Amino acid sequence: MGFKAPVDDILFTLRHVAGLTEVMRDGLFDGLDDDLARALLEQAGAFAEGVLAPLNRPGDRMGVRFADGAVRTPPGFPEAYRRWAEAGWNAVAAPEDWGGAGLPVMLNTAVMEMHTSACMAFGLGPVLTQGAVDALLAHGDAALRERWLPRLVSGAWTATMNLTEPQAGSDLALLRTRAVPAGDGTYRITGQKIFITCGEHDLTDNIVHLVLARLPDAPAGTRGISLFLVPKRLPGDGSANGGPGDGAPGAMNDVRCAGVEHKLGLHASPTCTMVFGDGEGAVGWLVGEENRGLACMFTMMNRARLATGLQGVSIGERACQQALAYARERRQGRVGSDPEARPIIEHPDVRRTLLTMRALTAAARAVAYVTAEAIDRAERGGDAAARERADLLTPVTKAFCSEAGIEVASLGIQVHGGMGFVEETGAAQHLRDVRVTSIYEGTNGIQAIDLVTRKLPRGGGAAVRRLLADWRGIVEAARRTDAAALGASAPRLGEALDALGAATDWLLAEGRAPDDALAGASPFLRLFGLAAGGVLLLKGALAALALQGDGDRNPALRATVATARFYAENLATAAPGLARTVTGGAASLRLGPDVFA
Ligand SMILES: Cc1cc2nc3c(=O)[nH]c(=O)nc-3n(C[C@H](O)[C@H](O)[C@H](O)COP(=O)(O)OP(=O)(O)OC[C@H]3O[C@@H](n4cnc5c(N)ncnc54)[C@H](O)[C@@H]3O)c2cc1C
Repeated sequence: MGFKAPVDDILFTLRHVAGLTEVMRDGLFDGLDDDLARALLEQAGAFAEGVLAPLNRPGDRMGVRFADGAVRTPPGFPEAYRRWAEAGWNAVAAPEDWGGAGLPVMLNTAVMEMHTSACMAFGLGPVLTQGAVDALLAHGDAALRERWLPRLVSGAWTATMNLTEPQAGSDLALLRTRAVPAGDGTYRITGQKIFITCGEHDLTDNIVHLVLARLPDAPAGTRGISLFLVPKRLPGDGSANGGPGDGAPGAMNDVRCAGVEHKLGLHASPTCTMVFGDGEGAVGWLVGEENRGLACMFTMMNRARLATGLQGVSIGERACQQALAYARERRQGRVGSDPEARPIIEHPDVRRTLLTMRALTAAARAVAYVTAEAIDRAERGGDAAARERADLLTPVTKAFCSEAGIEVASLGIQVHGGMGFVEETGAAQHLRDVRVTSIYEGTNGIQAIDLVTRKLPRGGGAAVRRLLADWRGIVEAARRTDAAALGASAPRLGEALDALGAATDWLLAEGRAPDDALAGASPFLRLFGLAAGGVLLLKGALAALALQGDGDRNPALRATVATARFYAENLATAAPGLARTVTGGAASLRLGPDVFA
């Protein structure tokens, strides 16, 4: 079925939950106002519905083709990409100095949400290009930026992120790709990378690879990794130092695609094995300092982690729309004495499933946009507390929102019954496509470890305690309104925050055995996301009630309140159980290998 861009829902979340209004009021983005934000989202929505959504099913069926080192994307993709880049969608949040629109990450997040809902295989590629722009802006020297940024910002060229090798996935300390100084300021790169998204394709005439590699005398482990820019085609004006030139691509570099993966989903997105240096070695330029490559790559990865969580939101939205339409049409079962079979949407169990889908998607959207807001305040406003908040929320967004998307897509299949399991309806594609989001950009297990061992303990847990205080304020405000439409939202979310607070205290307690903390990492992250999602939905519900109080009769406001209430009373109730798993579940893991006997 088709896709309807949820412009109003997104705008509501941006304004009333994530704080776009306050960001505009504080003058962080010159010239940005409500009208501009709406116009941008409406145009992005129209592009999603009209250009990208029609590519989704045929792209899935046909997939990418690989022959003689070349990759062909499905029909329609090159033309859609050209239109996408020409319309400026790649450059929404990039700085104006480099040809970008200089708009908030929040608005770029909204654009990317809709484009990814329409066709995730299309939306995935630009995530890497935009991440490479961030990495070059933060770490590239002037010559590298001047040569490569204009075309990466415009989307004339795409970029890739090359971390994974056959023996080095989550554990990048094991990576072996080599970089040797050539004596002229460039390096020669040799090695093999696997699973490289858009490593090769027919969308643009050059591809800029950002590659992690080791210098000859580099220390072992992750402190001996450097980052290099390695183009598919070398600068055409012959300048060897990567400085400014006419920008035209020239001779082929010593890089080739050796094949593409055959995957569960995302068939229209090329996932490539890349070979660097069959001959003399691929020519590359150092980005940032030697042996500091992982830190540089984290600039790219952090943005990609937000985008990956957002993919969960996008597919959740798509699956919700599809399941709702099916549930309104499909008739099974009678209600009361009525002899006619009723649309399945009337059955309480199906309503629960549909509401679970909608509530999880809305909660994940709120978490993702709040993270984007923290990034905007940190980057535009130089706000240190916002930087800490963004750091803390990034693994939560990546893992909680991707898992929400997977759960929602799976429930979407359930609503379709047997028709969900056959490919005809398209419900299965959503699950196949979104399933990878808990795996790539650092598995969700790795996100949980990052949260518990690095982000949470920073400053003695100051960032999480600040968030908890903010969120308790929202629950208190709900208690004070005493609105019947909120039901038991305030007490249930109060309990969820108490559970999060207790689990946080337990993890931060002095002398906690590291393995016990690691054993509780994934349930803790789930608890964090669950509580955050519920409180943010409640914030939206309070705003909706206030608008209703001012006489706004928009039925979407009632739905907003009802969704928040459903989440609080039906989903957030899992929070105390998750806290008990964190604090009391480790002992059963200490049985060692015998547990698998
Ligand atoms: C479609 C697709 C696109 C991709 N695109 C890119 C790309 O563009 N660039 C790129 O570089 N890579 C890319 N990847 C690779 C992806 O990032 C890796 O698959 C991912 O990081 C996991 O690594 P792995 O597959 O080696 O799994 P492993 O690291 O082998 O992990 C296997 C399991 O063990 C767990 N695990 C591993 N280490 C630990 C630990 N220390 N503690 C607890 N649990 C642990 C993991 O959570 C996981 O469940 C892509 C992958 C796919 C499928």
